[in-house]
Amino acid sequence: MPETQLSQLTEHVYWMSPGKPDRPSLAAVVGTERTLMLDAGASAAHARLFLDALKTAGVRAPDHVALTHWHWDHVFGAAEIGAPVIAHARTRDQLRVLASYDWSDSALDARVTTGEEIAFCADNIKLELPAPRSIDIVMPAIVIPNEGEFNPLTLQLGGITCAIHYVGGDHANDSCVMFVEPDRVLFLGDCLYPAIYAPTWYYTSARTLALIDTLTTFDAQFYIEGHNSEVITRQAFDARIAQMRLAATLAADLSLDEVAMLRTFEQMGYTVDDDVRDLVREFSNGRSYSV
Ligand SMILES: [Zn+2]
Repeated sequence: MPETQLSQLTEHVYWMSPGKPDRPSLAAVVGTERTLMLDAGASAAHARLFLDALKTAGVRAPDHVALTHWHWDHVFGAAEIGAPVIAHARTRDQLRVLASYDWSDSALDARVTTGEEIAFCADNIKLELPAPRSIDIVMPAIVIPNEGEFNPLTLQLGGITCAIHYVGGDHANDSCVMFVEPDRVLFLGDCLYPAIYAPTWYYTSARTLALIDTLTTFDAQFYIEGHNSEVITRQAFDARIAQMRLAATLAADLSLDEVAMLRTFEQMGYTVDDDVRDLVREFSNGRSYSV
């Protein structure tokens, strides 16, 4: 499939695959009464690409846009969409911080130096939005409060529902996932990725195991990830989760070093490739972070 192409995944779900430089997946959940867009995109140009593709497909424009988490590539496109934003309170708090920032190259570089920003994001922001740039951070019109009784927030779109579940995790502590029924699509955002705002990327065993326990309660048939150009089938998701659960469980045993963990992977029948090595290293890195 060509990069950043819109496709109809199920009866009610349209998905645009990730693109360069670091554009995430975008989706539209289309009911008979309303369209809900999932994540706002990395820029006005990215959001516009999605909106134009929806229009070409004859799909009603988004009535709302819901955010998975606060990272720039998922939120900078909101102003272009123009629809009210739905976000968790933790995401709202982070958007306030983003709205207070100067986004010039020099300010970005300074924040990388202080550790407030990471080079990976600063470099991609410069590619997505060449200087001089101004970023209009849209604050959410609808905020999902921290209290558990509002988790999930279910939106009725007409013949289809989308439930926004706060899940947290290492990648971003505000991460939400969206479950679409009856299509059984789970929009994951970046929640299964490691923590990246750190000197080395990492996972903690405790947060990962809790996240996995939550994610495996959804009876989904398809999983859409922020930066995966393939839709994940149930079978592939279960395999991925099993691998993460093994790494998290092994890393929780502090007597095992990386070599011992990799040996266990081999004994369990896994091919120890770069993906497995990275996973084990990231869990090993996470041992120095308390949860
Ligand atoms: Zn992210």
